Order: sequence, then structure tokens, then C-alpha cells
Amino acid sequence: ASFAGLGIMPQLLSRLTELGYQTPTQVQSATIPAVLAGRDVLAGANTGSGKTAAFALPILQRLAEHALKPPLKRDAKSGNLVSCLVLVPTRELAQQVGQSFQSYAERMDIRPKVISVFGGVSANSQMLALRGGADVLVATPGRLLDLLSSNAIKLNKVACLVLDEADRMLSLGFTEELAEVLKSLPKQKQTLMFSATFPEEVRELTAELLDAPVDIQL
Ligand code: AMP
Repeated sequence: ASFAGLGIMPQLLSRLTELGYQTPTQVQSATIPAVLAGRDVLAGANTGSGKTAAFALPILQRLAEHALKPPLKRDAKSGNLVSCLVLVPTRELAQQVGQSFQSYAERMDIRPKVISVFGGVSANSQMLALRGGADVLVATPGRLLDLLSSNAIKLNKVACLVLDEADRMLSLGFTEELAEVLKSLPKQKQTLMFSATFPEEVRELTAELLDAPVDIQL
């Protein structure tokens, strides 16, 4: 299998070549075509499996294809809308995942705007960065909720939601924040969920959030 064979577009392929990614990992081979087809995905995947690229590459491609609205081109009137929301459990992961999106997008004609927000630092610069919205917002649930309540972002147009390391997010005590965030998202959206383990709490979330998901257990 190759990334081209999975349907990845040339602009992303040339970046993958630069990065030395020759063969897709298992989770990438299973996830990429499903995301490109607009399906919900449930994937059992550990750190190191290549799960970040498994969701970031097809999401970037769908942004480029304008499959995830609102379109990349935005103006002052569009407000602080977010197209794709990626929820992660920790600050470190928020930074890493944001950087991965940026890196994979480096050869794209229209570079999507990717912003990472997380707690432990002042919210001011994050609020400034969110002016005009974001194509991809990578966030920890607590800080996201703060930004939401101060109207720094609007999530009512989110077309794609990713829950990364869902089990860690819940075990770190983000259950209530997560529920609160999920309430402000539109019902109609593409949802991708990645988790290393599937305890009861994660399975409940799965049932609530995913619509006929492609189930990827490696
Ligand atoms: P992740 O599981 O997303 O944290 O990725 C683990 C590491 O594998 C990261 O350093 C990625 O840059 C790298 N990686 C992901 N996919 C590939 C691939 N197909 N080929 C080579 N390296 C990869």
C-alpha cells in the first residue's frame, strides 16, 4: 500500500516524501480512505501508531477540497468560526498535533489556519490568534470551554470533530468539560475517535457521538 493508493493528494504526497514517510502504517491505511469518504471512524490506536497523520492528512485534504465547511477563504463577517475541532487531553499533545498539521500542510496551495489552545498559559494570545476563526483548532477541553464562554470562538459550524486519546481525556477528569463542549457542536458533523483502551465511559461516548462508524481495531 502507498499513500497515493489511499487517495492522498499530490500536495500532501510531496510533503510526505520530504518527511521520509514511505509506507502508511496500519491505522493510516484503514483510517485515511474512511475519512476521505466522509465516514465516522472509531479507531483503537496507541501513541506511536501514526494516528496523528491518520486523521490530519485526510482532514487537510477535505479542507482543501472544501468538503468541510466553512471554506478556507474567510472575511471579517464570518466571525470566529472553526471548521475542524481536535480535542486532546494534554498541553503537550495539543502542541504536537498542531505542529503535525502545520508540517503536513507545508506544500499545500492554500495553507489552512491551524491554532492550538491549552491551559497553563495566558488566554490572551490564544484569543488574538483565534480572531477570524480557524480551519483546525486543536484544544484541551478546559481551555476550550474558557474560550467558548468568553465568545472567543464559535463552534456551531464545526464540520469535523476528532477526539484524540479519548480514554486519557476521560481519565484525566475532563468528562464534564467534554460534555459541555459537545453540546455547542452541531449535530451534523463527521466524528473521528481514537482511543488506546475502551472502558465503559469511552464506549458510552462512542455510542453517543458516532454515526455508523468504520470500526478500526488493529
Ligand atoms: P503518532 O502515533 O501519531 O504519535 O506518530 C508516531 C511517529 O511516527 C511520529 O514521529 C510520526 O512522525 C511518525 N510517522 C507517522 N506515520 C509515519 C509513516 N507512515 N512513516 C514513517 N513515520 C511515520
